[in-house]
Amino acid sequence: MKADPEDQLRLLDLQAVDTVMAQRTYRRRTLPELAIIAESAARLATLSGDVVRAQTEIGDLSREQRRLELDVDQVRSRSERDQQRLESGSVGSPKELERLQHEVQSLARRQGDLEDQVLELMERREALDAALAAVNESVQRVTADRDDATARRDSAFAEIDAELSDREAERDGLTAALPADLLALYERLRAGSGGTGAAALRQRRCEGCRMELASTDLNRARNAPPDEVLRCEECGRILVRTPESGL
Ligand SMILES: [Zn+2]
Repeated sequence: MKADPEDQLRLLDLQAVDTVMAQRTYRRRTLPELAIIAESAARLATLSGDVVRAQTEIGDLSREQRRLELDVDQVRSRSERDQQRLESGSVGSPKELERLQHEVQSLARRQGDLEDQVLELMERREALDAALAAVNESVQRVTADRDDATARRDSAFAEIDAELSDREAERDGLTAALPADLLALYERLRAGSGGTGAAALRQRRCEGCRMELASTDLNRARNAPPDEVLRCEECGRILVRTPESGL
């Protein structure tokens, strides 16, 4: 392939722009903030499940506590009725008196049991409240971390996108000036060679693969007409001769 030496040099400018664009695109995709945001989202999903579970358990305990307190009220009023009957002197039968006294005792035991259960529930409720408060604190902390990371990501994106847009304009200017066949070869090689399609020959080395050219290849490069498009024998990339080529 033949191409004006000026166009060959322009290819190196294009390569420099493409390399920067590839670096910025890579940076955009691998910003550490993206991992923080994803981890925060996963953590918040888990925490929100924890909140729902704790709230459900607290609701169940509250209902259970109300039920027990109603039972306590019933036992207490029954016992008061029995006490009033005992103290009124209206119960004549000794058997009935004994039954009532027995019932008052057993109601007192029952009330004690129920009150113990209420106390136990209240302790569990306190522990659950504390656990829920801790989960809510974690939610706030993780949300703040996520929001910070999101702000940093957005500002990094804005900076990268502005630079990419500048470089894109620069690239358009360069490609518009290049012959189509040279550009097509460059693009094909760039796609197949890790993003580098053209490299300078500098100090007898191909800057694409860093290999020093064999003397026969150097001779060929030296003797080739300036508009001959050279390719590196090692890596196949377009090899552009420059004043620093060492030929
Ligand atoms: Zn090479």
